[in-house]
Amino acid sequence: MKRTWNQHVVKQENKTLVLSTIIDRTPISRAHVAQLTGLNKGTVSSLVSELITEELVEESGPGKSSGGRRPVMLLFNGGSGHSVSIDLGVGYIRGVLTNLTGEIIVEHKVTTESNAFAVVYPTLLDLIKQLINKAPASRYGIIGIGVGVPAVVSHVGEILLAPNLDWKNINLKEKLAKAFNLPIYIENEANAGAYGEKRFGSKFVSEHMIYASIGMGIGIGMILDGNLYNGLKGFAGEIGHMTIVKDGRKCRCGNNGCWERYASEQALIQEGEIRGLIAQQSTDPLADLITLAKANDDKTIKLFEEIGTYIGIGLTNCINIFNPQHIVIGNQLLQVKDWLLPAIMGHIQSHTIGFHQQDLQLSFAKLGQYSTVKGMAAFTIEGFLLEAKNTNIQL
Ligand SMILES: [Zn+2]
Repeated sequence: MKRTWNQHVVKQENKTLVLSTIIDRTPISRAHVAQLTGLNKGTVSSLVSELITEELVEESGPGKSSGGRRPVMLLFNGGSGHSVSIDLGVGYIRGVLTNLTGEIIVEHKVTTESNAFAVVYPTLLDLIKQLINKAPASRYGIIGIGVGVPAVVSHVGEILLAPNLDWKNINLKEKLAKAFNLPIYIENEANAGAYGEKRFGSKFVSEHMIYASIGMGIGIGMILDGNLYNGLKGFAGEIGHMTIVKDGRKCRCGNNGCWERYASEQALIQEGEIRGLIAQQSTDPLADLITLAKANDDKTIKLFEEIGTYIGIGLTNCINIFNPQHIVIGNQLLQVKDWLLPAIMGHIQSHTIGFHQQDLQLSFAKLGQYSTVKGMAAFTIEGFLLEAKNTNIQL
């Protein structure tokens, strides 16, 4: 009998449901999948057989019994494909190869001498090629490449503006798709960081979370009502450029007095240089400041407190706007969190409207420097599974 289109669609939907249940609950028995999905056991068994043939699911030894024979457990087969995920920062590129569960298998980090696209792009291509070459053999090979960038990114993966890299209107997605002939995902690095923390970070990340990426610039990624919030065209979260000082310091975005000119790694280093704490030619100025702070240098500790207060000012605005349950701080300034935290908390506690503080938690990224690459891995893997549903492996 020829199947109708509707039956086909229902089967695909059921198969996706079975796979996502196995991914979320791995290891899980067939009976438990049936119970959770509401599908009958025969349907689950037949769909699981197809998923095993497609190498997305595998069986493992018996699990716990609730009385009778111990059931065979089903596992998501994370090794059937790999993603390449990149955190393209200011002055560095971090790249990782992950399996389909997001586990990092290989990592490379390079520093970039210049932010010019003509310098960064060949370095990026080289890094991606190295990661691809190190991927173990697998059924689906490299399933995609995800790149997080500190930029305003359009829905079609074009970098519209990256003030701290001084890039404008670069269609990175198109360029990488031509170079590698693979699915390419380009996303703002703070959005990727927020998603990475939600998917792979703290179990306690709530449905109302603001992820503040504080590196050379500042961006925020928002999980609102459980979903990543992008705004109308994907540009939400450019809060590093909100004005906090009228006629203040000049910013690369063209405005004056932007938050990131007072509260970022860039602000910290510039003030450190102006105050004579570190040399202008230093190759690693942040490390130099950390050394000074560890030696209890008063002026350096005071500078950290000032930066912390400015971080607190911006976060207080975010708290008053979004009423989050959880604020997570990530990116480069994680390294100096111990010196920043008292000033950040001091400002928030004394300036946030009281009832906004109820149930509010502030913490630093659980994934450390890996929030963005893990988020890009999640986007790439989810894109592959969604695409798989529609085309090549007919989920
Ligand atoms: Zn600005």
